[in-house]
Amino acid sequence: MPATSQYRLQQVSADLHERALPGGAFYLLAWLLLAGFGGMFAQRPLLSGALVLFFGAAAAVRFPLRARAQHDPAGAARHLRMLWGVLLATAVAWGAVSVRALLDPGFVATDLVNLVATVALGTAFAQVFPIDLRRCALGTALIYVPPLAVVWTLPGMLPVAAAMSLHLVYLGTALVRGHREYHRRLDLDVALRVERDRYEVLSRLDPLTGLSNRRRFAEVLEQDVALSRGGAPLSLLIVDLDHFKSVNDRHGHASGDACLREVGERLRDTFAAASVVARIGGEEFGVLLPESRATAHELAEAFRLRLRETPVRAGATSIAPTTSIGLATFDPARHRGSEDLFRAADRALYAAKEAGRDRTVGEGVVG
Ligand code: GH3
Ligand code: MG
Ligand code: MG
Repeated sequence: MPATSQYRLQQVSADLHERALPGGAFYLLAWLLLAGFGGMFAQRPLLSGALVLFFGAAAAVRFPLRARAQHDPAGAARHLRMLWGVLLATAVAWGAVSVRALLDPGFVATDLVNLVATVALGTAFAQVFPIDLRRCALGTALIYVPPLAVVWTLPGMLPVAAAMSLHLVYLGTALVRGHREYHRRLDLDVALRVERDRYEVLSRLDPLTGLSNRRRFAEVLEQDVALSRGGAPLSLLIVDLDHFKSVNDRHGHASGDACLREVGERLRDTFAAASVVARIGGEEFGVLLPESRATAHELAEAFRLRLRETPVRAGATSIAPTTSIGLATFDPARHRGSEDLFRAADRALYAAKEAGRDRTVGEGVVG
């Protein structure tokens, strides 16, 4: 699922949930007023009690219907549908209750309460849920239209029916405007989050080679060392190009750059199993391998020899860089943490340079 759609779903489900929470109780309160003043609890105790339970349950069930889109988009979409289902079911129930009360002569005293509640609940629905235009219009209509249709037929209620109809038209326009505004803000929010993600990724990449940068490398090193305390093998290679300054001097900086890019690509291909391949300095790369010292040494040597034997094309020229590689394998008895491991590999690299370059040296061994 693309990040944009996921963020959208996440935001919509969070917004709908937040907006749905306080509303449910008002249907219950409206029914208590209507049934209480209409004497329904005495006349029809079972039906009245059942409606108290229904509106109470419909209000309470909104609370656990919180979607968690970040982990399970399909589940989030299901939650969203269920929440809409609860909202629309409550709306249908109110429309039916209101119609039933208007048609029942026993409720005449509460007709005003009934209509005020219907107008208020319909208005709230139209203004709170314009997240989804069609469902919001449907919910508003389910609350408002059936009672309104009855009001049109009641004797002496023509002015009220006309006023309510006018108000319904207003609700329609408010709903459309609310929908447009909500989605304009949502688009902006989603675009900002996507942009933030892009910068987050860029802040961990080296722009020249596209490899991880030193910052990302340090993070992975820290994580891998922590995991490696459990016994998993972990070897660190620091790969430094030899006499790169003179490569630049001889072929030019642009060719030097092209050479660095190519070396980066070859490192990435060769060490595909590495947890990170990073450019950690100008012409210096770090590779973290889930390998023992012997295997890491073999892999490092294979890379070094292949690079030396396959010159790098850089523009019109070809460059045959040699590399010195320092290798250290994490050992909790010798390394307190990631810094010790890095220092050990760096010392090994220094030893490789001292010993004449173009070689791999393991920690504590001069090769
Ligand atoms: P050594 O064998 O001791 O590593 O010698 P060296 O010349 O590779 O090492 P030194 O640290 O003296 O110089 C590193 C050179 O790498 C200096 C600089 O010109 C070059 N360099 C660093 N970053 C870049 C870069 O982004 N592009 C290019 N083209 N060259 C770079
Ligand atoms: Mg160098
Ligand atoms: Mg260097």
